[in-house]
Amino acid sequence: MSQSFQAAVIRQQGGPFAIEIARVKEMRPDELRVRIVATGMCHTDMIARDQVFPVPHPIVLGHEGSGVVEAVGDKVTSVVPGDHVVLTFLNCDHCSACHEGHPAFCENFNLHNFSGQRVDGSHAIEGDAGEALHDRFFGQSSFAQTTIAHERNVIKVRKDAPLDLLGPLGCGIQTGAGTVFNALKVAPGSSFVAFGGGAVGLSGVMAAAAIGATTIIAVDIVPSRLKLAKDIGATHVINSKEEDALARIHEITDGGAHFAMDSTGIPALIAQAVLALRPRGTAAVVGASKPGSKVEIDLIDLMQNCKRLIGVVEGDSVPHVLIPALVDLHMAGRFPFDKLVRFYPLDRINDAAEDSEKGVTLKPIIRMP
Ligand code: NAD
Ligand code: ZN
Repeated sequence: MSQSFQAAVIRQQGGPFAIEIARVKEMRPDELRVRIVATGMCHTDMIARDQVFPVPHPIVLGHEGSGVVEAVGDKVTSVVPGDHVVLTFLNCDHCSACHEGHPAFCENFNLHNFSGQRVDGSHAIEGDAGEALHDRFFGQSSFAQTTIAHERNVIKVRKDAPLDLLGPLGCGIQTGAGTVFNALKVAPGSSFVAFGGGAVGLSGVMAAAAIGATTIIAVDIVPSRLKLAKDIGATHVINSKEEDALARIHEITDGGAHFAMDSTGIPALIAQAVLALRPRGTAAVVGASKPGSKVEIDLIDLMQNCKRLIGVVEGDSVPHVLIPALVDLHMAGRFPFDKLVRFYPLDRINDAAEDSEKGVTLKPIIRMP
């Protein structure tokens, strides 16, 4: 009989997450089975639950999983049963972006991560009565005790690291840190501003500190987030409800920041991120804006000052390189992302979603029974 496990299933727009029994249907030779230990929750789960970002329902969401490899297909060579792994997004490995080493911009990204099925239309799991259940969300659907993933989206990590903490490295934290390391290439001694101090923005703050930026500014409107930003590496914080953020940034950096990252997705703040730059500075957009959003940019400022505004997905990372590096930085005490998280048991997953949406919890992590 196929293996059964508990999973949080979304059956209708807006939820709730319902804990149900699901079953493994089939594992292919290039796939592996992972016992999920814990899975982080982020906004992408909510917008998929609410179908702001349309995915087929019923579906098992969850895309920041970590766990232990239980079984591998005949063609899998990079991991063996017992290995500790972090799950990340799945890429196709044969488009030009993948060949050029930029899997986050895979031309088949949506097909592999948001279609709710394998590329050939099949599923690796099913409901307890054999009914159809969509899976493969970010190549994993990890709000579950078990997942069938592809060898490519499973990253082996060192066994002395706390496995239940590591899942968010697969998406939200990789996004903030990767944007700093790979896309912006924040330099030692430079200045960096994070507009938005959620999990993504604060990951950028920690990464900028780790790489040796010497002026690190966090802008937010929630005092507790600004306090946390200071604890993890920000040299300055600005509550933009109380202060003129742009004027303060120019004052602190003596003429503008070298680098900025927006994780709020608010067009007016993205325009400010560009204005906050010094000549030849770069600003990155990583927050998800409402579909159709537009930004007004001062083109003379952009041209005369040789500024750049770029968009970044998943930190433009190669996860097999970045995720183990972030684990090493964490273990060395230089990337304290444990300060961002709060753990919830699977049967409290709806409370985790509510706390995240209210801003009470920065990064919920769901522990599997
Ligand atoms: P979050 O909601 O925790 O963070 C957003 C922060 O912005 C909050 O701290 C909030 O207080 C702050 N904010 C809101 N309005 C503000 C204002 N007017 N001025 C200053 N600060 C303000 O979310 P997160 O988990 O950090 O994710 C951020 C965004 O990144 C989301 O939109 C998410 O969907 C997106 N995301 C993108 C990628 C990618 O690959 N590009 C990956 C993961 C997440
Ligand atoms: Zn590709």
